[in-house]
Amino acid sequence: MLKHRNILLFCISAIITLFALSFYFDVKWWSFLLVFAFWLAMTIFGSSNIKTGYFVKSYCDNPAEKELKIAISFDDGPHPMTEKVLDLLGQYNAKATFFCIGSQIEKHPDIFKRILDEGHVVGNHSYSHSNRFGFFSTQKVVDELKQTNAIIERLSSKKALYFRPPFGVTNPNIARAVAKTNHHVIGWNNRSLDTAIEDEAKILKRVKNRMAPGGIILLHDTSLKTVNVLEQLLLFLQSKKYQCVTIDALLNIPAYEN
Ligand SMILES: [Zn+2]
Repeated sequence: MLKHRNILLFCISAIITLFALSFYFDVKWWSFLLVFAFWLAMTIFGSSNIKTGYFVKSYCDNPAEKELKIAISFDDGPHPMTEKVLDLLGQYNAKATFFCIGSQIEKHPDIFKRILDEGHVVGNHSYSHSNRFGFFSTQKVVDELKQTNAIIERLSSKKALYFRPPFGVTNPNIARAVAKTNHHVIGWNNRSLDTAIEDEAKILKRVKNRMAPGGIILLHDTSLKTVNVLEQLLLFLQSKKYQCVTIDALLNIPAYEN
């Protein structure tokens, strides 16, 4: 059972109990409000933290990994900057996973093909990456997933099974949509915040602090800043004897349908 259902059941039981108690005791009105506030806080926390698996099961690392293997993932491409990312990955013999936006693949089909030609893995990152994605209906999410899967299939003959929700936001509609489309939801356990933090050294430090075998790092192949961070990161990983693998190799979950 999903965690949000447990919390909802708990809150409903608490409200019923409080209501029953109010016949015998002086139950303060704000105790009901407190239960509601708890539910609201849990819902907001759960929907914005993919790792909690609050609404939908998501894969964020492989805690059983004993070898020095790690997966780097890039969101929001393909983008002209992806070319520099690919150059670096090739230079360090590192493999990565790219969660591509459908509308971006349409803009840069050649870059998209290069990602696959060089042995990396791709996943679905919605078609529009709309700021309102978290408010989309189940059908609208299904449509976006299918649209991007169709674009990927047209260019590569691959049926993508991985989906990373834009902004890592999950909710019941997204949970219902991926149940319909049979996508695996892929998160991360090492968020670089490379789109929010300006200082490259700070981003690198943050990633290093959160590094562990079996981890999934989140970066964005959309800025020169991240390319610079990536170069330092790959140097560091090489010095620590880490092997950069694709997410399907890390999790043993297929990225494409046969
Ligand atoms: Zn994104």
